[in-house]
Amino acid sequence: MTDRLVLVINCGSSSLKFALRSESATKPLLSGLAERLGTPEGVMNWKAGDNGERIQIRDGKHSTAMASLLPLIERFAEQPLTAVGHRVVHGGEHFTGARIIDDEVITAIEDSSPLAPLHNPAQLVGINAAMKVFTTIPHVAIFDTAFHQSMPPHAYRYALPEELYTEHGVRRYGFHGTSHRFVSSQASLLMGLEPGHGAWLTAHLGNGCSTCAILDGRSLDTSMGLTPLEGLVMGTRSGDVDPNLHSHLARTLGWDLERIDNMLNRESGLLGLSGLSNDMRTLVTARAEGHAGATLAVEVFCYRLARSLAGLAVALPRIDGVIFTGGIGENSPLVRELTVRHLALFGLAIDPAANATPPGNPARQVQMAGSPAILVIPTDEERQITEECLALLDLATTQPVEQEA
Ligand code: ADP
Repeated sequence: MTDRLVLVINCGSSSLKFALRSESATKPLLSGLAERLGTPEGVMNWKAGDNGERIQIRDGKHSTAMASLLPLIERFAEQPLTAVGHRVVHGGEHFTGARIIDDEVITAIEDSSPLAPLHNPAQLVGINAAMKVFTTIPHVAIFDTAFHQSMPPHAYRYALPEELYTEHGVRRYGFHGTSHRFVSSQASLLMGLEPGHGAWLTAHLGNGCSTCAILDGRSLDTSMGLTPLEGLVMGTRSGDVDPNLHSHLARTLGWDLERIDNMLNRESGLLGLSGLSNDMRTLVTARAEGHAGATLAVEVFCYRLARSLAGLAVALPRIDGVIFTGGIGENSPLVRELTVRHLALFGLAIDPAANATPPGNPARQVQMAGSPAILVIPTDEERQITEECLALLDLATTQPVEQEA
């Protein structure tokens, strides 16, 4: 079979991230980011091997950015595209896996928009723009939430009146599914288990952070909930707080919902705790220099992460390994070390030499002898999206795809 090509699109309200992936290569053939869309300063940076360029997107339109991909793809792709894969944040309860985009899928993404008002509408703009440019190939939606649709009700239901769930979809959905799925399947390979098998606790630690309990390729519980605010301490997001905080701040300080939302999503987390930065690299350096806020932020981050992993362990029959991924999980020996220190009860112990980040940061084991596996696995969501796209198309050629929406 020839090496098929997928264009992976991740569209935000003012940005468009893209990558041209082949089914066999571990690196993109072409990748880039259009930013400041919606303004006259729209700009797109792309690179392909040693080539790269900055293009003005003067009308700031997503459709113009998308159209400017066409000549680039013709230049760097050795054969026609097979499909376009679109990252979609929220699929609600409609989707348990990737789906070929048709009218029904678009309607279901629209229906899920109240659950992700910042993301889903922007991703629909991207889908529409791409469908107008790439007219002859299938477009596939890959949902951040789909992987977690295997959670049992005792993990996804909140202890709230039933009609909030049945009438309004208020439940835990989880996010970062593409990353959790990718690193857990890589862990099976790394540990020599049957493909897709194993009992894993995964920690995806980027600007957004979440944990997941995975058994044999199925998510059984995760730290994010109705929205990506629940769970861990993140760059600027608070993670879990007392649900009465909203009414407390409204009553005592007169804050309205918008102000509280903004504070919890943009001014909290590592930034709020440290008073310095949302960036873990900056905090690790400041901690080494004795900055009290940075020290506290790193400690709270690691403690809360360990507490989440320990809590999720109850979803699993055993622990084959704990997996660290994302910018922080892959690159911060300190965060891994401080987190694992809180997990000694599980027999987990880290090997300092293996834990030090080697050049190239390959997937590897960093536990001491006798400890359950502790794995550092670089995530690759675009590769996972490419694989899911192509697997779906393979399935569609052998049997009609049943649409769930
Ligand atoms: P995103 O969620 O936006 O994809 P990333 O996965 O790239 O984010 O993660 C960004 C985070 O990773 C930032 O907090 C950054 O400081 C952190 N990070 C990157 N490299 C290091 C490092 N060497 N040490 C500690 N943190 C790091």
